[in-house]
Amino acid sequence: MRVRFWGTRGSIAVPGPDTVRFGGNTSCVEVTTSGGDCFMFDCGTGARALGAKLVACAPKPISATILLSHTHWDHIQGFPFFAPLFIPGTRITVCGPEGSGRSLREVLAGQMEFTYFPVDIGQLPASITFQELGEGTYEIGGARIVAQYLHHPTMTLGYRVEVDGAALVYACDHEPFSETLWHDDPARSHAESIVHEGDRRHARFMAGADMLIHDAQYTPEESPSKKNWGHSTYEYAVGIAAAAGVRELVLTHHDPTHDDTFVDEIEARARGYAADLGDAVRVCCAHEGLELTLAPHGASHLAGAPVAPHSRRDARRGSRILIVDDDPDIRALANRALIQDGHIVIEASGGREALALIDSQPFDLLLLDLLMPAPGGLEVLKLLRSRPATAALPIVVLTALNDEVNTRSGFELGATDYLTKPFSIPQLAARVRGCLARAGLEFAVDRGPIVAPGEAD
Ligand SMILES: [Zn+2]
Ligand SMILES: [Zn+2]
Repeated sequence: MRVRFWGTRGSIAVPGPDTVRFGGNTSCVEVTTSGGDCFMFDCGTGARALGAKLVACAPKPISATILLSHTHWDHIQGFPFFAPLFIPGTRITVCGPEGSGRSLREVLAGQMEFTYFPVDIGQLPASITFQELGEGTYEIGGARIVAQYLHHPTMTLGYRVEVDGAALVYACDHEPFSETLWHDDPARSHAESIVHEGDRRHARFMAGADMLIHDAQYTPEESPSKKNWGHSTYEYAVGIAAAAGVRELVLTHHDPTHDDTFVDEIEARARGYAADLGDAVRVCCAHEGLELTLAPHGASHLAGAPVAPHSRRDARRGSRILIVDDDPDIRALANRALIQDGHIVIEASGGREALALIDSQPFDLLLLDLLMPAPGGLEVLKLLRSRPATAALPIVVLTALNDEVNTRSGFELGATDYLTKPFSIPQLAARVRGCLARAGLEFAVDRGPIVAPGEAD
């Protein structure tokens, strides 16, 4: 497997003398397998130069699979400028997360409406197939691809690609689930000492990978003022990679305000932090043109690789959700986030009212505050988990208590997820969609091959 970086910038392209070494183009990574399959992680402005290279050098007709993490600008703006799309015979499969409100095709077509761009998506001569993915395992070409939701204010997928005896993980854009990653000394930490189940799941997803390409947009100093924007620090990426036994970490999605000198400093600090952890993970910051080869590492670490659960249901609309919070403003905000997704929302101002409602009608998910007049949220959670009817009900704790002790207690008592206030509407909507998509599914089922364009009916 060969990996080449065509775009390493997050948020917006920043060409110019200050970014010549690490690059100014937004997210795009090319992956080529020994069997000749071509994958692209994201389609930011870096996709323009990649497209030109494919037109010049790739065997014809060109065939590629684009794995979109999500559809924020910096991950799709290169799509209309991807030259193979203008060549008859080209076959492109665009994969991306389901559940963003509109279909993948609609979103990509939207940025090509005549108001924004001269060529309508329907006029492109290439054969384009769209495939919306949830969490799950897929076969694409000769590769096994595991998709898992990341923590970002819209539906966003990370991808684990296993092929040629090696495993590569791409995780952009992603924010730590919890401000506290470890419950003890980081230097002695391992995956099971991670506080938040979401971060533990993230570590399991990348377990034993030969290479991890991870978001590291902010420094630890910048991060507190960027909460809920959906990005990581090098400390988080290094820490979680080390805990997961990753061999090589490539930091990317560099902030547009970080010039080459600043990214150099981030790389040095990240390497220093890895050394402090006593871990052997190799760390670098991605730059445009960086090319890395993943040597076959044997099948042993692939056989035990995680298989993510996947959804059989449409998690987007029509679920019955109970919001339990004594603060009417929080209830109103959560209500707005859920109503726009088409859910049926019922509110309770306290634990007693919530328990009465749960006794009288079924719910698909519960949003539960912790600090309420008795019975408080932890008490309600404990009670619901002790009852067979609600033992598996998805319960998202929504609280201002962001410390390790309460986070740990929440999970120990059976919380499905633990979200801290303040939260944003897109963030809450994405977390609820993720929980609903996973609900009730105990084991992953292989979703099988994705049919390449031209082979489909
Ligand atoms: Zn981004
Ligand atoms: Zn984003």
